[in-house]
Amino acid sequence: MTTSVTTTKTDFRVLSREAFATVRESILTGHRALFSQRAFRTGEILCSFSDRGVFSQPARLTLQTGLDEHILLFPEFLQYINHSCAPNIFFDTTSRQVICLTDIQEGKEIVFFYPSTEWDMADAFSCRCGASNCLQQIRGAAYLPPEILSQYRLTNFIQQQLRHQTAVAKI
Ligand SMILES: [Zn+2]
Repeated sequence: MTTSVTTTKTDFRVLSREAFATVRESILTGHRALFSQRAFRTGEILCSFSDRGVFSQPARLTLQTGLDEHILLFPEFLQYINHSCAPNIFFDTTSRQVICLTDIQEGKEIVFFYPSTEWDMADAFSCRCGASNCLQQIRGAAYLPPEILSQYRLTNFIQQQLRHQTAVAKI
């Protein structure tokens, strides 16, 4: 999982075809990304997910599901869903479902907002997603102000962390 990069139709190869999406790899950069193979509607569930490994520390490919709980995704191809500051899907870590936040056309990159699941990431990065509201530095929800976070759908875990943070600040 790295930042989303716009690709043209000619500079990638398809690494694998999955149930509803294909994994593409940029020939120039080796950058991998997941692209939809059909259209989806807002609110639609793309798939359910589970884990193929649970860790106490975050890593580059893990998704945060609790305070000291970070999972490697199953099915594995979901790990190619990159970050965007304008996400079109959400990982609901309570229901363990991938949910559409917007309509997605066939052939579009499937992207999520890392701080919607990640509190404090192992690797911060500079985002070049190209969205007009790009936040540029992505380090996890812990580093973003509430007025930014309120624009995004967040996991129950991240919401809990924010409530806890507010409660601590008031003491
Ligand atoms: Zn961005």
